[in-house]
Amino acid sequence: MCKVISVANQKGGVGKTVTAVNLAVGLAREGKKVLAIDNDPQGSLTISLGYNEPDSLEYSLATVMMKIINDEPWNVEDGILHHSEGIDLMPGNIDLSGLEITLTGVMSRETVLREYVKEARKHYDAIILDCMPSLGMMTINALACADSVLIPCSVGYLPLKGLQQLIKTIGRVKRQLNPGLEIEGILLTMVDNRTNYAKDIIETVNDAYADKIRVFQFNIPMSVRAAETSAEGSSLYVYDPNGKASNAYMELVKEIIRKVD
Ligand code: ADP
Ligand code: MG
Repeated sequence: MCKVISVANQKGGVGKTVTAVNLAVGLAREGKKVLAIDNDPQGSLTISLGYNEPDSLEYSLATVMMKIINDEPWNVEDGILHHSEGIDLMPGNIDLSGLEITLTGVMSRETVLREYVKEARKHYDAIILDCMPSLGMMTINALACADSVLIPCSVGYLPLKGLQQLIKTIGRVKRQLNPGLEIEGILLTMVDNRTNYAKDIIETVNDAYADKIRVFQFNIPMSVRAAETSAEGSSLYVYDPNGKASNAYMELVKEIIRKVD
């Protein structure tokens, strides 16, 4: 059975894309067949995987979603890029912002992506969606097609208010569109474990949410190497093997596999 995880937080710069890359590649390293989907018009996931000019790609996620909207034929394999680290990528680019506007006037606008993912599930063990920093229609589509949401949250930003809004949106999607949707957990990112400030925030998040939502007990440490990978086109496992951030992401991968198996 395929597991679909959306990596979401309407706040930008919290580590969604780095998490999506290293979760997807990490699962592939554990023998899973993985599709990563770039659901952000900025194409950050696509760029992070080494495709530096997402806007010049002829076929992307927006292309297939447009075909679905227009009732045109499409194939799951069309437009898929094969990354050297063993994952497949459905790239995303600026066309997604035009699509988001188009969606507002479309019937079943919240579930267009679900039609694509439903087919893709037949070919993969795991599908990881990297969301854009908003709670707009593209993110709703990503929540409506997922089995769970993984919420990266950097400690540098006081997370409580934004998290409440996100959790409310997830609840609404669950009630109205996707009853099976679960919250995988809150993953604290860019943590400087040496400072008390980081410890305070972790405690605050735990106090506020741990009884309702899992807060992962490990976190992703602040790492210069992690910040650099986005420009390298590779995962941390290649760019900084055995670094503290890559080890932490492997822990996340193992945790997620443990839950599925
Ligand atoms: P988002 O997708 O939520 O906008 P990104 O994954 O793009 O966030 O990360 C935001 C910035 O922080 C990027 O420049 C990225 O390289 C950097 N970054 C991500 N994770 C870490 C980390 N663990 N340590 C240091 N920098 C990080
Ligand atoms: Mg991103």
